[in-house]
Amino acid sequence: PDWEKRVSKSARRNSASGFTVLVTGAAGFVGTHVSLALKRRGDGVLGLDNFNHYYDPNLKRARQKLLDRAGVFVVEGDINDAALLHKLFDVVPFTHVMHLAAQAGVRYAMQNPSSYVHSNIAGFVNLLEVCKSANPQPAIVWASSSSVYGINSKVPFSEKDRTDQPASLYAATKKAGEEIAHTYNHIYGLSITGLRFFTVYGPWGRPDMAYFFFTKDILKGKQITIFEAPGLGTVARDFTYIDDIVKGCLGALDTAKKSTGSGGKKKGSAQLRIFNLGNTSPVPVSELVSILEKLLKVKAKRKMLPMPRNGDVKFTHANISLAHRELGYRPTTDLETGLRKFVRWYLDFYSGSKKKSAW
Ligand code: NAD
Repeated sequence: PDWEKRVSKSARRNSASGFTVLVTGAAGFVGTHVSLALKRRGDGVLGLDNFNHYYDPNLKRARQKLLDRAGVFVVEGDINDAALLHKLFDVVPFTHVMHLAAQAGVRYAMQNPSSYVHSNIAGFVNLLEVCKSANPQPAIVWASSSSVYGINSKVPFSEKDRTDQPASLYAATKKAGEEIAHTYNHIYGLSITGLRFFTVYGPWGRPDMAYFFFTKDILKGKQITIFEAPGLGTVARDFTYIDDIVKGCLGALDTAKKSTGSGGKKKGSAQLRIFNLGNTSPVPVSELVSILEKLLKVKAKRKMLPMPRNGDVKFTHANISLAHRELGYRPTTDLETGLRKFVRWYLDFYSGSKKKSAW
């Protein structure tokens, strides 16, 4: 059928050394960039996304068009659909799975907790069940989150730090994912790498994130709210530019060992890893706003409020020496450079103009 042809064509490698990668959450922010980068270097890529309405579905469709033009087909479906996943693995012998589908966002968990359990826990288990029974078993790289460090006050965060104090349900489901990864590695010998992303931003980004909606509100002359943590100034984030994150994802895929299928039987043979992917230079949100004001040439109407207990943490700051050593990860984009690229994309995308983005 036509569907199978499109799936096979999209997943066809055009270089002998390339991988065949299933990218879940491919119409998402990070998924789009990772899929394009893999395709660009000659890997076979197939996307999967359920196109949920957590944020502007038109943005997801626009990313899908971009992927389509690059030769990446995105199957519309849910990671909880075992029959669909089995069908995809029947058609394509994936060497790797880049698992980026998730219910993201910290605050939304207070309105819709079950969507986090559905995508981040049940969906992840379903995907691992299918990977476990696939032949060959793919190596899995997936997105955890810096939020697992929770209300930890020791900075910078390193992979050995405690992660048992999540501040949100989102963080708790990401932490649960890390525990689930452990069991699938231990019992079934799946090769699994978790990446703890730190506040990713850039072109084609997520409208629910502060840098994005601040840009929108500043341009509209609307007041923006900035939270302050008592005694600490404004909330700070280790903002990490999307191209740096993509390099980290590719580094993780390139260094992933094959799944062994033997789990605990052959001690030490199955790979289980976890890495921070951050920028190592946290910036207070008040400074983020100042940079946006400069780039947009518009003064923001700021409202300062004490930080509520809404799942957010006061600051994030990554120690990335492990990712540097093992993945060759080295972020190179400072916040102003990255935001300039975002703003250029934003103005281009929302101006309704047909001209191609400079990005
Ligand atoms: P995103 O919301 O843009 O992308 C996720 C995509 O997955 C969406 O397109 C969504 O439609 C899809 N999806 C959700 N549930 C699904 C399901 N059950 N089945 C199939 N598709 C589903 O988010 P993003 O920023 O691209 O994040 C990618 C990954 O990185 C997520 O796991 C997220 O939790 C993680 N992460 C992101 C950040 C960040 O700052 N962007 C930080 C830490 C972790």
